[in-house]
Amino acid sequence: MEAIDEYVRFCRIVGPWTDWFQGPGGNLSVKDLFKNHMFVKQSGVRIADTTHDYGWTLCELNALRECLATNKEDFISAVSVCPTHSAKPSIEAVLHTFPSKYILHAHPAPLMTQLCTPDSSFYIPTFKTITVPYAKPGIPLAKLLQTMYDPSVSIYFLRNHGVVIMADNLDEILIRMNSIRIHLFPAGVYTQIPTAAILSYRMKPTQQPLLLRPTFLSSPLRTFLPYTPDIAVFFTEPVFCLKENALTYPSTVPQVISIDNHLYVVGETLTQCAILEELLRAYLQISSSFTIQLVDPEVASLRGWDKEKERLQNSK
Ligand SMILES: [Zn+2]
Repeated sequence: MEAIDEYVRFCRIVGPWTDWFQGPGGNLSVKDLFKNHMFVKQSGVRIADTTHDYGWTLCELNALRECLATNKEDFISAVSVCPTHSAKPSIEAVLHTFPSKYILHAHPAPLMTQLCTPDSSFYIPTFKTITVPYAKPGIPLAKLLQTMYDPSVSIYFLRNHGVVIMADNLDEILIRMNSIRIHLFPAGVYTQIPTAAILSYRMKPTQQPLLLRPTFLSSPLRTFLPYTPDIAVFFTEPVFCLKENALTYPSTVPQVISIDNHLYVVGETLTQCAILEELLRAYLQISSSFTIQLVDPEVASLRGWDKEKERLQNSK
């Protein structure tokens, strides 16, 4: 697999997990070590918006390391290797100059209280970790991390900021994220990392996986009934129900997946996921008793209407 394919897959699998990434926060990278290049997030974009044509920049690793060594905050001199993708890298691109092929930097919301609490510790049984004091993002933080870096340690907790995870491949990154979730996140509903990753990758085994976005709604299973025009138009597939320990894959692409009563929406873009999530929240407020749904001819009339087809197309 080409490094760009690995990078896009990485972004589209973990990017929609809003317990780890919010807005344009956090960044990922994948290195092509033979070419001394690194794919890294473009400044200001959301990770899950990444495609083969959008959201990243290609840096020359030695040039970026030189920027770090000489305190040069304008990294543009390091991105000239790909003229069609020479966008400004994330200010945190220098955090990704460490040797590992895959690096993830996230702001995990469930961990923030601990990260902002002095003297809190971050013990995970299977991995050594290092906790880094607060430093301004960018060169100051990367330089501080350089002084504390240990090649045998792959997880760094950043006080009042987030986490950096380093590994040689995506599976190892996911295993470390899952360990953090299991051992350090407080009780609550979070992305079910192994299952969500496998599903989003396998539902569309092309270069660009679909986005599988957790809603953090814990809801009993329900069949979609077309109560309103929006529900009839936007939800055309039944909820795909999956038991976490019995992985099977849907034959058609579902719009809503229920895994042990945790709900995920599926879309090609974050906008599409957000629309489905908002409609899902509205739908779940409709009581299933003493209510009536639209009848089949009414539903067919809406779904076949060119105005609704156009609206559906425009909301991706
Ligand atoms: Zn950050």
